[in-house]
Amino acid sequence: MINAKELKKAIEDNVKVLYRKTIDEASKEQVFYALSYAIKDTIIDEWINTHKAYDKQDAKILYYLSMEFLIGRALGNNIINLGARKEVAQVLNELGFDLTDIEDQESDPALGNGGLGRLAACFLDSLATLNYPAYGCGIRYHYGMFKQKIENGYQKEVPDDWIKNGYPFEIKRSEYSYIVKFGGNVRVENVNGKEKFIQENYGSVKAIPYDMPVLGYENGMVNSLRIWDAEAITNFSLEQFDKGDYQKALEQENLAKTLVEVLYPNDNHYAGKELRLKQQYFFISASLQRAIDKFKSHHSDIHMLPQKVVFQLNDTHPTVAIPELMRLLLDEEGLNWDEAWNITSRCMAYTNHTIMSEALEKWPIDLFKSLLPRVYQIVEEINKRFVMQIRDRYPNNAAEKEKKMAILYDGQVRMAYMAIVTGFSVNGVAKLHTEILKHQELKDFYEMMPEKFNNKTNGITQRRFLLHANPLLSDWITKKLGSDKFITDLPQLSGLKQYLNDDKSLEEFMEIKYQNKLRLVKYIKEHNGIDVNPDSIFDVQVKRLHEYKRQLLNILHVMYLYNKLKNNDGFNMYPRTFIFGAKAAAGYRRAKQTIKLINSVADVINNDRSINGKIKVVFIEDYKVSNAEIIFAAADVSEQISTASKEASGTGNMKFMLNGAPTIGTMDGANVEIVEEVGQDNAFIFGLSSDEVIEYENNGGYDPMVIFNSDSEIRTVLMQLVNGFYSPNNTEEFREIYDSLLKKQGHDRADVYFILKDFRSYAKAHEEVEKAYRDRRRWGEMALTQTACAGKFSSDRTIEEYVRDIWHLTKLRLDNAK
Ligand SMILES: *Cc1c(COP(=O)(O)O)cnc(C)c1O
Repeated sequence: MINAKELKKAIEDNVKVLYRKTIDEASKEQVFYALSYAIKDTIIDEWINTHKAYDKQDAKILYYLSMEFLIGRALGNNIINLGARKEVAQVLNELGFDLTDIEDQESDPALGNGGLGRLAACFLDSLATLNYPAYGCGIRYHYGMFKQKIENGYQKEVPDDWIKNGYPFEIKRSEYSYIVKFGGNVRVENVNGKEKFIQENYGSVKAIPYDMPVLGYENGMVNSLRIWDAEAITNFSLEQFDKGDYQKALEQENLAKTLVEVLYPNDNHYAGKELRLKQQYFFISASLQRAIDKFKSHHSDIHMLPQKVVFQLNDTHPTVAIPELMRLLLDEEGLNWDEAWNITSRCMAYTNHTIMSEALEKWPIDLFKSLLPRVYQIVEEINKRFVMQIRDRYPNNAAEKEKKMAILYDGQVRMAYMAIVTGFSVNGVAKLHTEILKHQELKDFYEMMPEKFNNKTNGITQRRFLLHANPLLSDWITKKLGSDKFITDLPQLSGLKQYLNDDKSLEEFMEIKYQNKLRLVKYIKEHNGIDVNPDSIFDVQVKRLHEYKRQLLNILHVMYLYNKLKNNDGFNMYPRTFIFGAKAAAGYRRAKQTIKLINSVADVINNDRSINGKIKVVFIEDYKVSNAEIIFAAADVSEQISTASKEASGTGNMKFMLNGAPTIGTMDGANVEIVEEVGQDNAFIFGLSSDEVIEYENNGGYDPMVIFNSDSEIRTVLMQLVNGFYSPNNTEEFREIYDSLLKKQGHDRADVYFILKDFRSYAKAHEEVEKAYRDRRRWGEMALTQTACAGKFSSDRTIEEYVRDIWHLTKLRLDNAK
């Protein structure tokens, strides 16, 4: 527990020691650092204590391997999980500062792109809260996700130097450094009748771990997020590890510098860059070496590894862990193939996050082999043995099955297939997605090894997305339920259902939403300079910009509504604010054009006084965890409008739900399960089903020209893309978007994502939204229903399912726990 007097003194002392200032002279940023170091000091004993308990109880440990951890700001979250929010706010007040202001000084550690990285962060929070021993293992990117600036409506990427002024919640742990080797060649030696594989002429870097504390909620548990940095191996040790020459030393210096520089800014898209594969191997090799050393410090028999260690592969990005673990067991531990295989296959589990072909990692064999020569030999052997299995099982159509399933095929290493073939578990991230995996995308694997396949519907942590993001609502829930148990037991929220018929409670709930809308109005005024009407419907789509997520459908619908307002005097519309937030990958043209379109439409509509502010369009710059928290709490409507079958789960949908925003969406990903929870009447569902989409895709798509020719309102909207209506200075600005909707594009069908096909049904769903909103009581009921039914979507539930079916961890007992 926090002692107010001690904390106050610690902050004052830190300000002195760090900045040679007294507290009254300190800037907000300086107070942020002073407070953060003070909080870290209060965490440290529990952190040490937790890891002593790991050792003493000889706990089985999960290593969650992920290229991304989108953890968001740490200070506020740590204070929340220490249960000290009120005390800390009070202390700061006495010192003349506001806690929220101080939290705003922290830059988001943006070590992830979007949903996949955020999921990893929610999982770490739940693991610690549920007392499960776990490490997150990743990379200490020096530049996180780029900062997004909007200039003249265009996205501009600015480097995110998040550790420039030091990051207060990390500890460098040089004593756990490891060497990682790249390139060179493999020499085979015969030692006592046994083949020994020796990698030579390689380049190498030193991997150095930085640990960040991951606090459980008020339970004294502190796990670690371990992110690896790279340093060049210094000259004297160069001799030790390499036959070093000057040229090589320089190369190693450069490799270390570039290796951890940037996070590739692609979401759901494989870029195939050599440096990316280097990053993957770098953090995997270091993490595995450390995991094995830690295991060996308590156990003498390496065959016990699967009882004490499990690795979860967050997508295929860390899949090189499979041949790397084989290598360590074969070459370093001296096991034979069968022993190593047995251990490896019982330690590795894989999560699939997407079925989209452009996201599937396939490394060119030449590249893979030259970068990781020994690891590649092992991949070859894994593939050889698997192909033999295929031939055994399918003597009559082996060639066809090999084409569909072999790990090495057509000059490529297919990473997903290696993960499926080797690991003991393959999970999808929502029911629908898992069914599509089993019966469509991975059906050949499912046929051969059905026991591996399972579903783990994603979840989110209510500690960040309710308690921290929406204190008004959490306090109200606590009051209404007479307990704050929902903080660690989200299904308790169902107790709110008793208030669905209570007008007073509904009004209170709506008033909280209104206050949160005012907070967002203020943010938008400060950041965009736009005045937004808090009485309008806040209709929100925030997520990475991707064609399959269909921000384009949303903005085309806004254009359609605007036309109706302008052309039809009788058209009566409830005031609406359409809020967007989305980063596009730096090299993703179509996505960037969509951002420009949204901003151009915003320019025209927001400045048209004739519509009396009935529509406003706001593009929030630099969407990230910290502003996401403000946005979710303020949303009236949650836009989850992906082309059915394309969004594996989504987690943004759950954050909106938790904060009382009904979904307008397709039957895709976890939307399906959200509708299951709230009921058809409390969601606005539209569009093709995933079966229909897949059916069209298997039959060459559909013809959007039929819609263009028959629906004049849609046609008008489309023509406005190319007649300068939104781009008077350049009528060609949106030509590519127009073409993509109506014309075949090389190999691509016209309107690949069924935007025009779903348009009418989407517009109809929006009419239903408006109708429901006009009935204040009905809307209150609907909104509260979302929160009351959100219990399933806690990442605590997800983690318990992983533990039960895949990881088989035991809860750690903490003697000194509070
Ligand atoms: C939750 C979250 C995401 C994922 O959103 P989806 O709508 O599921 O794609 C992406 N970015 C941030 C900052 C988030 O908080």
